[in-house]
Amino acid sequence: MGPDALSDRRWERARRELIETIRERGIDDLEILRAFDLVPRHLFLPEAVHHRAYEDAPIPIGFGQTASQPSLQALYLQTLGIGPNDRVLEVGTGSGYQTALLAHLAAHVYSIERVRELSVRARAALDRLRVPNVALLVGDGTVGWSRYAPYDAILVAAAAPQVPPALLAQLAPGGRMLIPVGGREEQRLLLYRRSGEGFEHEEVTRCAFVPLLGRFGWAE
Ligand code: SAM
Repeated sequence: MGPDALSDRRWERARRELIETIRERGIDDLEILRAFDLVPRHLFLPEAVHHRAYEDAPIPIGFGQTASQPSLQALYLQTLGIGPNDRVLEVGTGSGYQTALLAHLAAHVYSIERVRELSVRARAALDRLRVPNVALLVGDGTVGWSRYAPYDAILVAAAAPQVPPALLAQLAPGGRMLIPVGGREEQRLLLYRRSGEGFEHEEVTRCAFVPLLGRFGWAE
């Protein structure tokens, strides 16, 4: 057995422990837990932080950004109830880890990141794992991605001062969106649902995300 097999086993054990933590935090959807089992988080992180890859914590990925806490990402997935026919828009690709989880649950994922280098790295990790159903865009996600709209689910992984109107407009009938809204330090994670002619919304939890920068976000 070579050293790679040994380190694979080490990652596998760490990943199982992370899944157990996520389960203890109330995530019981088997498809979501399976996605966490199938996606090696360390491959989406800079090598310098590989040893922390399976902590249930936000991890720095450079450019002042972080890969979000896995149990919070699991809460996003469970709250949105992503199904196999769903087309999903993600704002804030970051490391691409959440994008890869989504790719296991949805039909197609469209993900926007404003930092080009992060998008390039995410593409490399997704290609390495041969994830086929993801399109990435470098740009301002506060205006959405109208070309592929409408979306069954929209995940915003950065904190907005208010809900960007373009994102609501790009939700399909019955579509759901999760977005942290509030101040720069602390926000409320809001769930929006498009129903009939309007939108309903409710607070899911309190959270603290990096700022959403852009036309309908914070000033750069
Ligand atoms: N879910 C990601 C992961 O698993 O690594 C973490 C996302 S990180 C918390 C938030 C990301 O949103 C950062 O990479 C940041 O550059 C990006 N971002 C901020 N404003 C943005 C905007 N207007 N459009 C697209 N991406 C944006």
